[in-house]
Amino acid sequence: MRIAIDIDSTLYHYWDLFSLLARRRFGVTLPYEEQVTYDVSPLRQEQLAALVSETHRSEHILSATPYDGAVDTIRAWHEAGHFIHVTSHRAETAHEPTVAWLQRIGLPFDELYCSFDKISRCRQIQIDVLIDDSPENILRAQDEGIVPATIAHPWNRELCEEEAVICAADWHQLGERLAPLLAAGAVQARG
Ligand SMILES: [Mg+2]
Repeated sequence: MRIAIDIDSTLYHYWDLFSLLARRRFGVTLPYEEQVTYDVSPLRQEQLAALVSETHRSEHILSATPYDGAVDTIRAWHEAGHFIHVTSHRAETAHEPTVAWLQRIGLPFDELYCSFDKISRCRQIQIDVLIDDSPENILRAQDEGIVPATIAHPWNRELCEEEAVICAADWHQLGERLAPLLAAGAVQARG
């Protein structure tokens, strides 16, 4: 199958970096557990954009620690013949450090896409499953007939309960929950 995988809050715990920089730069405290929507209300739109772009500076990209089990799970998918598309809403200038990071953590991938039209690209290359924490991307993927899956976060928990989203507490559980779908896809591809 063709699997698209987001980076921030999907492959690593982005919130620690984001909230640390928010405190340093704007003096606001953003507790993870209280972030029950995708809006970061204490910040204005332009402050938010500046902050997100700071999180995507090379030194921050390169120092991220992947979630436990993420790399092993994805490596197993890749070895089983699944197509791995890594996708992130980050500027094209972040492409090179992101490649360096993926290599450093040993995550195999077929394509990396750093841009701001994630779902269009997924549609274009016929992605079957999108793993992404953003509620907007989860809903848009569903509209496109792409199976959405995510690591559970306060901002998507509600969606995990209500919609047909494959949701998991961590990567070990996500691997288990996606296994039947990926196995069915592999049979379909052979058959
Ligand atoms: Mg994300």
